[in-house]
Amino acid sequence: MRMLVALIVIACAAIVCLPVVQAAGSGCGMTAAQPENTDAEVAAKAQTTCPICAAPIDKSVFSDVEGKRVYFANAACKATFDAAPATYLEKMQKEGIVPEAIPAAPAAPEVPAVK
Ligand SMILES: [Zn+2]
Repeated sequence: MRMLVALIVIACAAIVCLPVVQAAGSGCGMTAAQPENTDAEVAAKAQTTCPICAAPIDKSVFSDVEGKRVYFANAACKATFDAAPATYLEKMQKEGIVPEAIPAAPAAPEVPAVK
């Protein structure tokens, strides 16, 4: 009878301890999963926001200028950019934002750029 009580106590202790061990384990996992690119933040940033309105970019709306592809939040922003691309390229440069290089040209001819 005393053995049985001891077993129950051990079983209860195991059940109580288990979540604690799991929590500690996941805590370690989160630490390991932290990004290591802290150096990259100091250097040039990839474009993630519209240079006109600062909203997140829509990758289906872009202008190719000076060998770079600049993305916008919407067509209205693209029109604004196209009216004075140099101004906005300079603005992006000052903010450390580096537009993507224009991807390799597809086989099919592209729609002519509106100047
Ligand atoms: Zn915009």
